[in-house]
Amino acid sequence: MNGGPGRAGSGEPWSAVVTNLRAAVDLGRSPPVTLVTLDLVASGEPAVGMRPEAGRLVLVLEGAVLNHPPGALAVADGLVEAVAWRGPEPAGPGSGTGSAGGGPHPASRVEVEVAVRLPVEPRVFWRPGLPGRLVLEIPREAVTCALAGTRVGVDPGHGGRDGGARGGRYREADVVLEFSRRLARWLRSHGVSVPVTRDRDETVSVETRIRLARRERPDAFVSFHAGASTDRRRRGTAVLHRGDPPSERLARCLHAAIFHNSPFLEDVGVSPARDPFLRRLRAPAVTVLPEYITSHMGEGLLRDVSFQERFAQSLFDGLVAFFLDPPAV
Ligand SMILES: [Zn+2]
Repeated sequence: MNGGPGRAGSGEPWSAVVTNLRAAVDLGRSPPVTLVTLDLVASGEPAVGMRPEAGRLVLVLEGAVLNHPPGALAVADGLVEAVAWRGPEPAGPGSGTGSAGGGPHPASRVEVEVAVRLPVEPRVFWRPGLPGRLVLEIPREAVTCALAGTRVGVDPGHGGRDGGARGGRYREADVVLEFSRRLARWLRSHGVSVPVTRDRDETVSVETRIRLARRERPDAFVSFHAGASTDRRRRGTAVLHRGDPPSERLARCLHAAIFHNSPFLEDVGVSPARDPFLRRLRAPAVTVLPEYITSHMGEGLLRDVSFQERFAQSLFDGLVAFFLDPPAV
């Protein structure tokens, strides 16, 4: 930001209340960016300190207070792992230097700490307004570089004449296509090539899926199905794998990211698939079951676009972890 601390027109020291804080990835940009946005009601343009440290960025706003308690946001988007924020300790009664006079607390300071997985070159900009917006823009070039040349096969189960399991209103074939499309968008916007076994409602035989997967030689293969049970109360999220160590490692990376981002989900865990489909592939391969379509709550989540998008983001994060940390040979 420009120069010394911003000043209000009245000559009062700069002050601000942070009223909201969020993190989101803009996949429409090339390369995509993670945007950490603080809404500020401020007396003028802020002077922002930024301390890049190993594995994290720390934004410092002297003169600001928080409108909410200190906390942290799990992000796990392949680059940013979490965003944490701290405000000034509340001044106790009779502490003398408190804000009884209406001015800001002398020790007012908000710190926002962004944990990153790879080196980044962020920039900060200010959009005046009510509220003003302070935006930390983190280009995701390090992620696109790390994923350069990788191929991930994506396989929405069922389709066409084969609708898969049925919930109260929706077919498994249709909900898994939504998850597949979102994951493919995350991957393609970061330069990954994504062969898919289908991208619309069409019938694709198991033999065709296997032939496609073998011909395209992906570095990882992700198949989507929904859980189904005659017990309509049954819920949960599972990652099944091909049974070999690389596939198990892929499954564990995806599973960890899913539960980092969505800790409320019921954990069915990681296990080898009983279905022979995955074993006939050559790449590290998994089947992801985001929820049970036969449960009322599960079907609702499967159809919820925010859940779908966060789940796709989690799988992307897990795939980045998988490609970044190949096991020692
Ligand atoms: Zn299925």
